[in-house]
Amino acid sequence: MEDSIRRAAELLARAKHAVVFTGAGVSAESGIPTFRGSDGLWSRYDSEEVASIYGFKRNPKAFWDFARELMVKVKAEPNPAHHAIAELERMGIVKAVITQNIDMLHQRAGSSRVYELHGSMELVDCLDCGRVYRWDDIEGMLVEGEVRCECGSLYLKPRVVLFGEQLPAATLSAAIEESKRSDVFVVVGSSLVVYPAAHLPVYAKSSGARLIIINAEETHADHLFDVVIHGMAGKILPKVVEEVRRLRGLNGD
Ligand SMILES: [Zn+2]
Repeated sequence: MEDSIRRAAELLARAKHAVVFTGAGVSAESGIPTFRGSDGLWSRYDSEEVASIYGFKRNPKAFWDFARELMVKVKAEPNPAHHAIAELERMGIVKAVITQNIDMLHQRAGSSRVYELHGSMELVDCLDCGRVYRWDDIEGMLVEGEVRCECGSLYLKPRVVLFGEQLPAATLSAAIEESKRSDVFVVVGSSLVVYPAAHLPVYAKSSGARLIIINAEETHADHLFDVVIHGMAGKILPKVVEEVRRLRGLNGD
């Protein structure tokens, strides 16, 4: 483990354009329940009912009851993994974060270039009158009870990708470009199962990037990676950053 942390730090210390890709594992360490797996949300909720565009159009209230559990009861805060990734950006190493998470925790930790493949909860549109709300307003409504537009409509839809919807094309192509430009590509907290997650490291590797993965469990793609670390990102990434800082200090920059 210590050896892998050192090798990851060596790659990052030399990187000119590192890109980080994050999945649900990073949010899980902030207490946000994951979707898949035996204790995931989809074992308790019908994803077609609460998280598909068809379900939303039938019954937006079911969606918002689900979102209340996910976003309000949890009170998630950025964890040491989010902070370490933001610190690598401040050090000029990480140039972009690509995430499947919709919780805005990277931005709250201080990352400024974040490509959200599944959108985020930040902006919410009224499908009836076109008013746009910010998450803070919606959160207030969720706490009070009902999410309803000033126009009376219940059809307030956050700019997240629901099942049955396409990924945002511009964000996806920007994420692919970033992956191809990267010289070090770091996967954090993703088992690389869902498209396009599985493809991004392949684009990076084909363009000559070195690959690092930090994930709780083995993945089917571990063989592609130069450095594989199994464990909690919130424990490992701060150590990587510390080691990068030490190496850069040694090199006098
Ligand atoms: Zn409205």
